[in-house]
Amino acid sequence: MAVVSVLAVMGSESGKKVGRRAVLLGGGAAVLGTAALAREELARAWWRLPWSEKERTDGELDHKPAEWRAASAANSRRADRPDDFSVDRVVIHVVQGSYATALKVFRDPLHGAATHYVVRKDGHVAQMVRELDVAFHAGNRDMNERSIGIEHEGFVDRPEDFTAAMYAGSARLTADICARHGIPVDREHIIGHVEVEGTDHTDPGPHWDWDRYMELVAKERARLDGGGPVRAAGRGTRG
Ligand SMILES: [Zn+2]
Repeated sequence: MAVVSVLAVMGSESGKKVGRRAVLLGGGAAVLGTAALAREELARAWWRLPWSEKERTDGELDHKPAEWRAASAANSRRADRPDDFSVDRVVIHVVQGSYATALKVFRDPLHGAATHYVVRKDGHVAQMVRELDVAFHAGNRDMNERSIGIEHEGFVDRPEDFTAAMYAGSARLTADICARHGIPVDREHIIGHVEVEGTDHTDPGPHWDWDRYMELVAKERARLDGGGPVRAAGRGTRG
């Protein structure tokens, strides 16, 4: 699940001390007040950004096989990566819901969180935030600024949700991200939301098969190079 840390983020940017509150993806009506406040903070902060940006084209994709489904701009921070922040992490999430639910909430300006990508059970990928921009998904400002977030359709306690097609589509995506940003294919750089410092989120959960996933990413990464196999250098951690 993507969590919002915009209050913490915007609080420091606007010089105000604002407490950090986590908004769960399926959180419901109780979170809307916080998210609406975050949106206002965000809209103000955008004007402060000093740097000149790269040219953008509507609907342009970073991962070519994806389908562009724009998230609300309120759920990310406009940036100019990798010029302002270098990208060296991929964060794996599980929606705790369907692909349609993820798209719906990330398009909602009141939600306050989004990932760059959402992967469906059949392997189809939606890109919702440009990799240039900082999506609010990790619940940690530093991690948001340095990472790309990928949601996966399904529930952490339902291993059957993690289909072969989904692993394959996600591995192609992660390998492409790693190739374009020069990110090593290992478990230090490809992490679960659960591994983000300070998080109280458990996704992708114990049924996410890291060994299988990392092997697929390494194969795809090698294929992109058109060369020999690249071995996944795992940390030996699972779940
Ligand atoms: Zn998550």
